[in-house]
Amino acid sequence: MKNSSSTVIPISAVGHARPAVAVPETAVPATGVLHDRLGRPLTDLRISVTDRCNFRCSYCMPKDVFDKDYKYLPHSALLSFEEMTRLARLFAGHGVRKIRLTGGEPLLRKNIEGLIEQLAEIRTPGGEALALTLTTNGSLLARKAAALKAAGLQRVTVSLDSLDDAVFRHMNDVDFPVADVLAGIDAALAAGLGPIKVNMVVKRGTNEQEILPMARYFRAHHGAKVVLRFIEYMDVGATNGWRMDEVLPSADVIARIHAEFPLVPLEAATPGETAQRWAYADGGGEIGVISSVTQAFCHDCSRARLSTEGKLYLCLFATAGHDLRPLLRGAASDDDIASAIGHIWQGRADRYSELRALQGPDDGSGSGNGNGSDKAPRRVEMSYIGG
Ligand code: SAM
Ligand code: SF4
Ligand code: SF4
Repeated sequence: MKNSSSTVIPISAVGHARPAVAVPETAVPATGVLHDRLGRPLTDLRISVTDRCNFRCSYCMPKDVFDKDYKYLPHSALLSFEEMTRLARLFAGHGVRKIRLTGGEPLLRKNIEGLIEQLAEIRTPGGEALALTLTTNGSLLARKAAALKAAGLQRVTVSLDSLDDAVFRHMNDVDFPVADVLAGIDAALAAGLGPIKVNMVVKRGTNEQEILPMARYFRAHHGAKVVLRFIEYMDVGATNGWRMDEVLPSADVIARIHAEFPLVPLEAATPGETAQRWAYADGGGEIGVISSVTQAFCHDCSRARLSTEGKLYLCLFATAGHDLRPLLRGAASDDDIASAIGHIWQGRADRYSELRALQGPDDGSGSGNGNGSDKAPRRVEMSYIGG
């Protein structure tokens, strides 16, 4: 396959090791508002609950790298649900209002409902519950939707790259059928997990012909209950063989849909939203485009990412995370850990996509300049820190 080498890359070896996170000398109290160096508040936390997946999407976990010899994290390295919940509570104290569970495939983590129940108990300093969502490939959703809802999950995002079975089976590379994902979407709607976002990664030359069939299907079958979102194929990780000529700019996606179904732009629902929203002019619902490559949105990026083993990443394109696990498993108090998180966020200046737009993409292999360094270390994989 394309570019990726057949070498096994143990996840623990990916990126540069950072020194262990220390408790800062100056406390950073949880005031419910925390800004980074570029003035961006911390409002969203994505928690990766597993680095494993039952799909092998070529743009994320290409089969020749993520093969039977691939070294996933051992169970002892994974944060427990109690550890994740403790961190989530401390993040909420600093301003996080929304948590998205991701992975790998989050529904593969045993008893994920148990984690959702614990997260649903968290309150913000103002006494509000958090918005709890999850991103899934949909393969186990038909089976799990009702239990997820009962545990306290509010919404789901389902990834689906094509309605054409042959194209979809080729893209997930494990021969998984479209029908089962559609059944998962139906089950999630029936369980009350809507409106559902459906994410389609668009790769020029691979599934661009599916843009209109996807738009037609979700308009006709679900109207405003499903928001279809088209994601530009991103240069995340170091294994997917990303090439700019395989990116179909969101502007093209909009033009193609607009030609059949006229669209009108909508205002962002919340600041820091990743998608630009468009409504069907005839009232048939809305769609979104996530233009990470052609229109960087770093200026209001308010998302922190927690890896399955407890490393805090400040950007999807980061090469190293801040390891919170030793604090969790040591003698650090909640205030100590909250101060450490606060200190890390206050030092954040990441804006990879904006720099990429200025400087050109980095191939992620260690020789590019995407993060401003001539000898950039290898970026972490999307399946490790979640989308
Ligand atoms: N397994 C789950 C899923 O596929 O929904 C959750 C994890 S997956 C890493 C999260 C999202 O990242 C998915 O919507 C996926 O399509 C997207 N994604 C993965 N690799 C990508 C890439 N190279 N460019 C754009 N989106 C990507
Ligand atoms: Fe798995 Fe999601 Fe990555 Fe596809 S995009 S390989 S489903 S983690
Ligand atoms: Fe946020 Fe990094 Fe993506 Fe910019 S490149 S929007 S800082 S995750």
